[in-house]
Amino acid sequence: MTVEAPTKPTLAERLASASNSRDLSVNVDTRTDADYLISSGIQPAKLGRLVYQLMSEWDARLKPRALTDADIERVAEQMPRLVKKTKDRRGERVTESLDIAGARASAALWHQQQRREILEKLPAFRKLMDRHAGFRPWVLALGIEDARSKLVDVLLWWCDRRCQTCGGTNLAKGKTCKVCHGFGTRDVPHGADGLRISEHIAAEVDASRAGTAAVLKRMKALKKFASGQS
Ligand SMILES: [Zn+2]
Repeated sequence: MTVEAPTKPTLAERLASASNSRDLSVNVDTRTDADYLISSGIQPAKLGRLVYQLMSEWDARLKPRALTDADIERVAEQMPRLVKKTKDRRGERVTESLDIAGARASAALWHQQQRREILEKLPAFRKLMDRHAGFRPWVLALGIEDARSKLVDVLLWWCDRRCQTCGGTNLAKGKTCKVCHGFGTRDVPHGADGLRISEHIAAEVDASRAGTAAVLKRMKALKKFASGQS
């Protein structure tokens, strides 16, 4: 097993952890968690900032646990059996088996629906879906079919892009996961439409990040000004 060298947290990670910080004291001489929140608050890229907020609200919520093979088997037991007819010299034989693939597919649908419902209750989600100020007018203007639900699924991908089969561990039953080919992540949902929506969200997030970084550079002067020291 290889050990990854510790890397500096990204601005996104700092913002996500700062919004859950217990220590939001402001100090003129040192940079604290509060600085990240202040700087993201005074720059104007509102939608990008709300995406960070959504990610951190999502992280703080309890999610349904991934279903195990035993769970899937229990679901399959409630479903109609797969019937297979085979012929050999002794005549026709009928064998019945559990529909594991069908059970896995319906469990995945259930899981996705549970996750959508959790997402739709987050305060930042409501703001991002605002009829006038959120991402919705933009998506609708593109003429994307089924725009709302695609937007919801893409926002869900922004919150959690781990492969749903291996849970991001890259391994399924000790072997490289076949669904994500060992990457541990899943693709943006809904093909070309999903990618277009995701790129638009990324542009807003980048604008917000660029603004935050610029304000952080000016933070010391701003804090001095605010405390009456200059
Ligand atoms: Zn996987």
